[in-house]
Amino acid sequence: MNRETNDRIEEMDAPRIMTRDQHCISRKQIDEDVLKVLYRLHRKGFLAYLVGGSVRDLLLGRQPKDFDVGTDASPAQIKRLFRNCFLVGRRFRLAHIRFQGNKLVEVATFRRHPDAEELPDDPDEHFHFVQNVFGTPREDAYRRDFTINALFYDIGSFSVIDHVGGLEDLAQRRIRVIGDPQVRFAEDPVRMLRALEFCARLDFYLEDDILQVIKSSAPLIADASPARIREELMELYRHKVSGKVLRMSKELGLLPHLLGGYRGDEASLQLLQLVDDRTASGVAIDEAFAIAALFLNRFFRECPAEKETHITTALHIANEIIIPHCRYFSIAQGIRHQAREMLVGCFRMARGRGLRGERRFLEHPFTPRSLELFRLWAQVKPEHAALIDTWSEAIKCPTQPPSDTEKKKRPRKRRRGPRRPKGRGGYPKDQQKVE
Ligand code: ATP
Ligand code: MG
Repeated sequence: MNRETNDRIEEMDAPRIMTRDQHCISRKQIDEDVLKVLYRLHRKGFLAYLVGGSVRDLLLGRQPKDFDVGTDASPAQIKRLFRNCFLVGRRFRLAHIRFQGNKLVEVATFRRHPDAEELPDDPDEHFHFVQNVFGTPREDAYRRDFTINALFYDIGSFSVIDHVGGLEDLAQRRIRVIGDPQVRFAEDPVRMLRALEFCARLDFYLEDDILQVIKSSAPLIADASPARIREELMELYRHKVSGKVLRMSKELGLLPHLLGGYRGDEASLQLLQLVDDRTASGVAIDEAFAIAALFLNRFFRECPAEKETHITTALHIANEIIIPHCRYFSIAQGIRHQAREMLVGCFRMARGRGLRGERRFLEHPFTPRSLELFRLWAQVKPEHAALIDTWSEAIKCPTQPPSDTEKKKRPRKRRRGPRRPKGRGGYPKDQQKVE
């Protein structure tokens, strides 16, 4: 979109307004600190809107994750109004207003698409730049991704303002891109992933023509910023839709471009669904668990749980799988280490009990998390189900040796040669796996 488009946006039909008595949003549902911010902006003569996902969620009767505020006050004006305000952002000055308990309310000045000649020469800078040009509320609605994400709630009139047809799409349970999907996906390919995310989260649908555009534009996502993809991927896990969204991504041919050739086998997708169910039951998801779940099936494919396979081989294979992913997404070594330990922990569990190094493995701090993952894996691969109870017992009581019958099954191995010193074998010392 450019200046011409911006002019056209301003000339288009008046927005649809839903007055207080026509919608279900009540101020009681809005966080009190957010209300304070909205009221103060309004009292000082500025437009003060609730914007983005919070209006969508309130209209759907869902609890918003956060409340974002949009205004026509400039960042400097916002700062003057609030003592507890900090301007953040390198170029786009976003106002963070801090309240007790580390609570932050984000206030953004309305923005618009920049003109073509305003864009920086470096295309990599475009995404950040397009976030940075002030505009009217209508232009601000049009720069957003989907119609249902572009609704405003005006604290001055308690009405909902719809410039883009989002209310109709909410009623039809439909995700519609603002503008031409081809152009908007090319402008920012992460929107393709977001489209699938909102479909899954809200149980909405995407029209066929948009699905076709995702299919044809899928390769573009490979060039999206890894940091943004990483963040959106974690959003999928937090919103318990990783299984559904990666399945849709696979069907649309987006998945291999999204995750460097990731296949998304049925077993992996089933495991991710179970991870989502676990999150839905109230267990918080973290990135190490998410990564281990993503790669567990491939890990077992490349490293079948055979008793003869040495742990160092399993470590090596786990590293080969996880390191490229973590490097690409700049994931901290601590997270990478935990993910790898979970894979190798599952490998140890799948081999059964009574093998060398079991005692130390049971005492290792990551082992209970490996068991959590392995428990889900055993639902995908029921041949492991019988091992779950024995490992749970063992973790509860690590000094207890395996039962006689389990012990008898395994021939005692004699150690050949001297014990290998720690720190060898190509793994950094701090990543040494317990044996
Ligand atoms: P939730 O916070 O519940 O995940 P949200 O809709 O608030 O959903 P955010 O990622 O917090 O999503 O973004 C806030 C708003 O910013 C969105 O509602 C949308 O209007 C706009 N937005 C976010 N990402 C993009 C994008 N890539 N392109 C255009 N607009 C975007
Ligand atoms: Mg949000």
